[in-house]
Amino acid sequence: MLNIVIFGPPGSGKGTQSTKIVEKYNLIHLSTGDLLREEMENETPLGKEVRQYIDKGLLVPDEIVLKELYMRTSEHMDSPGFIFDGFPRTIVQAESLDEMLRKEGMSISLVISVEVEEEELHKRLMGRGEDSGRSDDSDDIIIRRLEVYKEQTLPLIAYYKKQGKMATINGMAPVDQVFGKISRAIDTYLESHKIIPVVE
Ligand code: ADP
Repeated sequence: MLNIVIFGPPGSGKGTQSTKIVEKYNLIHLSTGDLLREEMENETPLGKEVRQYIDKGLLVPDEIVLKELYMRTSEHMDSPGFIFDGFPRTIVQAESLDEMLRKEGMSISLVISVEVEEEELHKRLMGRGEDSGRSDDSDDIIIRRLEVYKEQTLPLIAYYKKQGKMATINGMAPVDQVFGKISRAIDTYLESHKIIPVVE
């Protein structure tokens, strides 16, 4: 199995790159942001609960996110692998993910960290706010999300570096160039582990 974590600050292009990775390597895309927004749109009790965090730019509590993610992951255990997008976002989530995969005889293969300068992130997110329709893409909430990222999510870089799984990609380039670099990192991993990707 090929299990990838795509990692990076809000606005780094994780979602866009995930879509391309999924197409090329046939993975199941699990975006906790998308899953939570779906709950909000459907106005489920969970959706109503998580809205109070998301609309403030805060992280949704670990236990809620973990429950949702486990449920979705267990539905696809027969797939060629997963791409986790926007997850894990805290050390607790990363440790829980490792534990969950270990119980299934699996592990994270590779963590792709997409790096973008802070000024560019602000620019992209402010621009996106005009047409995304996302309630958390407004100026003050964007600033909060970037702060939360630095405080709670950035420590994961050290966590995965220690495991020897980090591949750092410069995200300050056009989408296809960034994807080219990501593909090379994945292919290098696959070759060195003698894994043949599932291609339809
Ligand atoms: P972005 O990375 O651009 O902020 P996401 O769609 O990944 O977009 O996340 C949007 C919001 O959803 C986050 O600000 C947070 O409130 C919530 N969220 C998403 N994933 C997680 C997670 N793994 N843990 C806690 N909260 C999350």
